[in-house]
Parts: sequence; C-alpha cells; structure tokens
Amino acid sequence: MANPLRPALLAAARSPRIARTLTGLRTTKKVVDRFVAGDCEDQLVAAADTLLASGRHLTIDYLGEDITDIAQAKDTAAHYRTVLSALGESGATSESVRPLEVSLKLSALGQSLPRDGDAIALEHAHQVCEAAAAVGAWVTIDAEDHTTTDSTLGIVRELRGEFPWLGTVLQAYLRRTEADCRDLAGPGSRIRLCKGAYQEPATVAYREREAVDQSYLRCLRVLMEGRGYPMVASHDPAIIESALRMVATTERKNDEFEFQMLYGIRDAEQRRLAAAGYHLRVYVAYGSQWYGYFMRRLAERPANLTFFLRAMAER
Ligand code: FAD
Repeated sequence: MANPLRPALLAAARSPRIARTLTGLRTTKKVVDRFVAGDCEDQLVAAADTLLASGRHLTIDYLGEDITDIAQAKDTAAHYRTVLSALGESGATSESVRPLEVSLKLSALGQSLPRDGDAIALEHAHQVCEAAAAVGAWVTIDAEDHTTTDSTLGIVRELRGEFPWLGTVLQAYLRRTEADCRDLAGPGSRIRLCKGAYQEPATVAYREREAVDQSYLRCLRVLMEGRGYPMVASHDPAIIESALRMVATTERKNDEFEFQMLYGIRDAEQRRLAAAGYHLRVYVAYGSQWYGYFMRRLAERPANLTFFLRAMAER
C-alpha cells in the first residue's frame, strides 16, 4: 500500500504502552477531534443533528474494541441502547432507507473474551438489535481483523434470522471476500464494502494498493448485480465513479444502494453526493476510547500523520 509507515502505525494501534502515552497528550486530542465527534453523548447528539440537517444519514460507532472483561461488554451494549433511544426520538425512522444506524464491533461486545466470547457477543448484539428495532433504526456489524471474520459472519447469520435488516461489513483486501460477496448478495442483505483497515498477512490479504482496488471493484460488481443493498464505503474518487457507472448499468434506483464515508473525511464530497440525491451515510465515531480508531486513520493517509506531527511540534 502507498503509505510506507502503514505497518508501523497499525502495529502501534495495538500497543497499550503507546496508547497510554499518546492519549495523555492534549495536542493529540486536538487532532483526534477532526475524526471523532466527541467524548460524550451531548457532543454526539450535536454532531448528529448537524449531519441529519444537511441531508446525510448516520451510523454511530461508540468507540472501543478488544475489551478484556465482560463488564465492559455489558456497558458497551447498555450505552448503545441509551443512544438509540435518545436519537431514535429524532424521527424519520420508518423510511425504506433508515437515516439512523449504529455500527457495532463484536470485539467490544465480548467476542475477544477467552471463554464463550462468541456467545457473549451474540447476546449483546441481540440486545442492541432489539433496541434498534424498537426505534426503527438499523445495525451494521463492523469487520475487524481476519481472525474474527468467520465468527463475525456466523453471528450475523444467526441474528439475521430475527433481524433480516442487519448489515455486515466485508473488506475488499481479503482474498476470501469476493466469494463472501457471492454468498451474501441475496435479497434483503445489506453489505458495507470497504477496502479494509487492519494489518493483514499476504496469505489472506492483497497488500498492494492496485490489487486492493481491483478486488474492491470485482466485489462491488457482485454486490451491485446481486439482490441486496450495497453500501459503498469509500472516499476514493475512482471507486465512487465506478460505483455510479455500475448503478447505471444494473439500473439500481437511489433507494437500492448508498454511499458511506467517515466523519471528518471529504466533507464537501459527502455534501455533494447528498445534494445530488444519493443516500450518503456518515460513520460517526465518538467516545473516549478513540486510540485504535485514530491510529487507523493516520495509517490510511500520510498527510494525516504530517498534520499530527505538525500539531505536536507547535505545542
Ligand atoms: P483510500 O484509497 O485509502 O483513500 C482514497 C482517498 O480518500 C484519499 O486519497 C483521501 O483523499 C481520502 N482519505 C482516505 N482515508 C483518509 C483519511 N484517513 N484521512 C483523510 N482522507 C482520507 N475498515 C475495516 O477494516 N472495517 C470496517 O468495519 C470499516 N468500516 C468502515 C466504514 C465506513 C463508512 C468507511 C468509509 C470506512 C470503513 N473502514 C472499515 C475503513 C476502510 O477499510 C478504509 O481503511 C478507509 O475507508 C480508507 O479507504 P478508502 O476506500 O477511502 O480509499
């Protein structure tokens, strides 16, 4: 991939020692605020109101991953339930494309616990899906590193029996994903296709930028030609253009797919797509556990690292 520092930054994303050092610095927080909507619920609600007012839809990520005890998993599920009932009152949740969604990392709900991780994550995700159903919101399960993919897709399959609108994420950099797209492109499925944000070995993942982009386009074609609801999660102008060409050739209507981007990235393009009549959903991350998420954003783009280092130098 293009960023030579990507492997080092992604390794740092998993280091508790570096996390302790960086999260203690006030200047880091200033840069983090570009990508994270705030620490608390009030800040989230303010950011959500602004985005909804501009015609964009939301998916909310309460930051946290790889928790180490069950109490944290319970707290995370409870937090999502509270946020859903607070934001659910903002209305407009009965449309065929639902403006409000939450994104869940199963590792934050217990998947990474050594005993019964899958069952614990399933139970907590089930609670969040029930809360979402009660206010007419959607849920999508994020994709984490490749060692979790089978477990995550198994849990999604189980939950979809009861919550057929449950979405999941597939990562185009994984060699298996084109086949997963074929399996999951059936009626009613909602698949968010992204390039992938973790450090993965060449045995399971394409590592060159060109190969990842080609895989993305192959996977997207499968989803667009399928019967589900593709969610095109990318800021890449070439991917967005190709997606629009595929929409035209497959004669999809605007309610039959959506674009997604991350909070704080390509804001003008987000507004442009929404103003052109496309559904554009913003992935809004918030909460105090921003370290891993922030480091993955630095790894994606050398310019972000430069911006971060400049802010540190100006302290
Ligand atoms: P790139 O080729 O990386 O970027 C294209 C252009 O977008 C860049 O030239 C730049 O202009 C802009 N850009 C991209 N990244 C940044 C950035 N960090 N800062 C500033 N500008 C940037 N990954 C997972 O592994 N699992 C998930 O569950 C997951 N969910 C996601 C949900 C959404 C809605 C989105 C948009 C991404 C998600 N990702 C997830 C991250 C994704 O895998 C990529 O790492 C990320 O989106 C960058 O890839 P890109 O397609 O935007 O293309």
